[in-house]
Amino acid sequence: MSSDKRDPVKTICPYCGVGCGIQIQQGEEPGDVQFMPWGDAPVNEGRICIKGGAATEVVDHEDRLTDPLIEEDGEFREATWEEAYDRIVGELERIREEYGPDAMGFFGSSKTMNEENYLLQKIARRYGTNNVDNCTRMCHASTVWALRTSLGAGAMTNSMRDLREEADVFWIQGANPGEQHPIANSQYFRQAVLDGATVIQVDPHANKTTRSFGIDDTDRHQHLQLNPGTDIPLLNIVLKTILEHHEEHPEDGWVDEAFIEERTDGFDHLKETLADFDREAAAEECGVPLEDIELAAKKYASADNAAIFTGMGMSQHACGVDNVQNEINLALITGNVGRPGTGVNPLRGQNNVQGTCDVGAMPNVLPGYQLVDDDDSRAAVEEVWGFDVPDEPGLTNVELSHEFGESVHGLYVMGENPVMSEPDANRVAERIQQLEFMVVQDIFMTETAKYADVILPATTWAERDGTVTNTDRRVQRMRGVDKVHENTKHDLEILSTVGSRLFDADDFDFEDPEAVFEELRRVCPIYHGMTYDALGEEGLHWPCYEPGDEGDPYLYEEEFDTESGLGHIEGVSHQPPKETPDDEYPLILTTARLEEHYNTGTMSRRSPTLNRQTPENFVDVHPNDAERYGIEDGEDVVLKSRRGEITVQAQVTEDIKEGSVWTTPHFAAASANRLTNDVLDERAKIPEYKAAAAEIEVGIES
Ligand code: SF4
Repeated sequence: MSSDKRDPVKTICPYCGVGCGIQIQQGEEPGDVQFMPWGDAPVNEGRICIKGGAATEVVDHEDRLTDPLIEEDGEFREATWEEAYDRIVGELERIREEYGPDAMGFFGSSKTMNEENYLLQKIARRYGTNNVDNCTRMCHASTVWALRTSLGAGAMTNSMRDLREEADVFWIQGANPGEQHPIANSQYFRQAVLDGATVIQVDPHANKTTRSFGIDDTDRHQHLQLNPGTDIPLLNIVLKTILEHHEEHPEDGWVDEAFIEERTDGFDHLKETLADFDREAAAEECGVPLEDIELAAKKYASADNAAIFTGMGMSQHACGVDNVQNEINLALITGNVGRPGTGVNPLRGQNNVQGTCDVGAMPNVLPGYQLVDDDDSRAAVEEVWGFDVPDEPGLTNVELSHEFGESVHGLYVMGENPVMSEPDANRVAERIQQLEFMVVQDIFMTETAKYADVILPATTWAERDGTVTNTDRRVQRMRGVDKVHENTKHDLEILSTVGSRLFDADDFDFEDPEAVFEELRRVCPIYHGMTYDALGEEGLHWPCYEPGDEGDPYLYEEEFDTESGLGHIEGVSHQPPKETPDDEYPLILTTARLEEHYNTGTMSRRSPTLNRQTPENFVDVHPNDAERYGIEDGEDVVLKSRRGEITVQAQVTEDIKEGSVWTTPHFAAASANRLTNDVLDERAKIPEYKAAAAEIEVGIES
């Protein structure tokens, strides 16, 4: 061990998309890794939330996978890396020979770095398939689709810094930064509020965001507590209110006519869509007083700079693309795009979910969002790679899952846990057993790894170097300390070996992550101007087209990145959730995450500090529903949908609306995803996690 390895190294928190900088210091032994603040880290300036502070707790956890495992006669046995590689390469070759390349699927991971996801998608494409996807499909695929189609880039239009300094109104819909992006909330949004900004929160559930701004206590802020799945009618009320006011009072400038004329198309379609729209009926559908929505419309439209923040409450619906399109409509008709403090800003979940998409780990795009079915884009990438890329988009991860045992017979999983993260998880567990071969590379024995044929022990975030891209498009470097377990390998090394052996070629043979990044920037125009040196400690916001570019904190100052250069407006109409309450399942179930836990909890459930806060799942039930069912606060109940049931403790609270119930996906024994509906948005293929019909059964023996 070299002595400089024991100096603190600057890296990035492995949890959420805010991308906070932290330092880690290795003690006398590998695995003795301590967290240290990074005082002048570019995003968080030394501040940290409970997850970031506890992130090192899992690095040397006793559950770490330490050796390759191969399944034999229903048991896992330790294997050598040689055996594991031989089995993987042999099975991938067999599957391609027997069924063709589209019989394999590849799952990248937002928990791993840009270089690793880049290499995984390159393996998939050289294998001959575009069946490569990542968990953005489950969180913001619809947001990416709508933003890319209507504005140009599937990412935040602005940066957290310019939003803090310039935004007068924060319109936060279907997002809960107080819980899920704590440092963005406390350091950026709360600071703006202290400087006078107004918050309008649109969410069926009162939460830490509501409380952190004192939204309930002031006339300045508002919480519009709508029924789950009624975001389109609520925004249509806002849009129609603004348009009607503008007809009577054009001098107020609520509608930016010059911006619409010069920089957008589709405005007439929006007006036609709203011509016969009935605001009173829509407000009733939303369960929010009409005058409250009108007041919110006034606050947004009359602000100098108004910014929209959008989260999974918007994206995780079968109408997710239309939900986000309506936010785009609102921003465009009021001219709130293309300058600091404005825009439509998705708050991304994991620390590298943005980067995983940027580098092409998606079935329809190559690195830099170049469409696989665009001949010129494909040719540009093929020239660097030296092999042909299939020209049809592949299957998304839920589509792949639906095909397990049918047209899909093999799966390569890097750092994902679909048996818990996908909707209708009981069926996913059944289908995954129909695969002929699955390899999982991870740090723990996940719920998915239990069904694998080969398990490869990877290293943790703290042991590796590479880059990640945060929610406001800032690409930052991660730096690692020594490996904890000798026989584990970095994801990049594993992929490099698999690629080299599978294709008997040297174009997967890279010396280090920087060498991979150098190739990535040759095929990814928005990263082309970046180098490890240029990223330094501050990082750079993409797009960064040429060396020397400083990157763009906010987008679209002059024109949109669409074919016409115009921002696209398109009216949308209400589409109720695919499953609505009935006599058998009379409640609406909606889901979300907790501050102390993280997605399927593979890391956070093993972190003593985090797990202590909330060790088990629970369900929020409104007091009127609790009375109707005879539920006591703290009582165990069975929460059921058409797809399964979980036993959870009832938390009786007015945080949730009457008729709705709210629970979380983090806990293996009682995950919300045993209940959620796997119906998809037809364009973005994102599942409708946020609305399902449910029922509660009481009187459980505990
Ligand atoms: Fe990590 Fe996100 Fe917390 Fe920052 S806000 S410390 S990135 S979990």
